[in-house]
Amino acid sequence: MDSVITDNIKSIREKIRIAAEKSGRSESGIKLVAVTKNVTIARIKSAIEAGITDIGENKAQEVLSKHTELEEDIVWHFVGHLQRNKVKLIIDFVDLIQSVDSLRLAREIDQRARGKGKIQEILVQVNVAQEETKFGLKKAEVLQLVREISRFNNLKIKGLMTIAPLVTDPQEVRPVFAEASAIFEDAKREGIPGVELEYLSMGMTNDFEVAIEAGANMVRIGTGIFGKAS
Ligand SMILES: *Cc1c(COP(=O)(O)O)cnc(C)c1O
Repeated sequence: MDSVITDNIKSIREKIRIAAEKSGRSESGIKLVAVTKNVTIARIKSAIEAGITDIGENKAQEVLSKHTELEEDIVWHFVGHLQRNKVKLIIDFVDLIQSVDSLRLAREIDQRARGKGKIQEILVQVNVAQEETKFGLKKAEVLQLVREISRFNNLKIKGLMTIAPLVTDPQEVRPVFAEASAIFEDAKREGIPGVELEYLSMGMTNDFEVAIEAGANMVRIGTGIFGKAS
């Protein structure tokens, strides 16, 4: 047991509760994914003892090595940029791939999943366009990508994921979260066959409260749980 990790998780859950209540929801409706990149097995086990059920990794190699060392019944999320040639390494071990940002990557995951007789659950990663930067996808483009990915038989789209730009004042990215949330609601309303839009994954240590207020129901927290130099 690591009491700092336990206390951090308690404090994050309390902040999640307050942010959820601000938007008329309850803490139980927000899934907390502990992001364990660069975190040792012993520290991950402490987090699991403190009630963490979902962990997120951003490197294929770390999924592989940690998977063999953690026998606990946990849900594995892949949250990092995924290269197509790494899909085959992790396909057996990941429950939810959150970072599907192109049709080519989706096609590769679909093929590998078919080879394993698996239906792979995924989130479509959207980088919401910001007027100043013209970086990312516009609403129509996101909806089009979701429609195209929905046609793969061995993929199941469970929602959307977004990463906001890193800023010093999280209030600055409120419009980014609001736009992602609007796209999520639009996509749900469209009722695309085979798509079950359950999760809107947005918010990290620096900005999860703003993300929840804007509609996130899944947050991905690393340093807020494990500290900076873990
Ligand atoms: C590292 C990472 C996180 C967690 O970031 P923190 O700021 O440490 O909470 C969340 N999502 C993704 C995609 C990440 O790579």
